[in-house]
Amino acid sequence: MVFKTWRRRRIGPVEVAPNTDRRTRRNGYLAACTRDGCGWSAHYTTEEAAELASTAHRCNPT
Ligand SMILES: [Zn+2]
Repeated sequence: MVFKTWRRRRIGPVEVAPNTDRRTRRNGYLAACTRDGCGWSAHYTTEEAAELASTAHRCNPT
């Protein structure tokens, strides 16, 4: 996963960066967990939503 450096931020193991959804082509924010073995990521329409989801994210223990 390659992020642009612009306005990229990290919340715990999760990184939030501007992103364009490949399906809808809408601008938004991608939250992606960088922890090995987790692989969680999600697209949000607002930065606030992405940050909230990142804060609430808990890695899969397995
Ligand atoms: Zn995780």
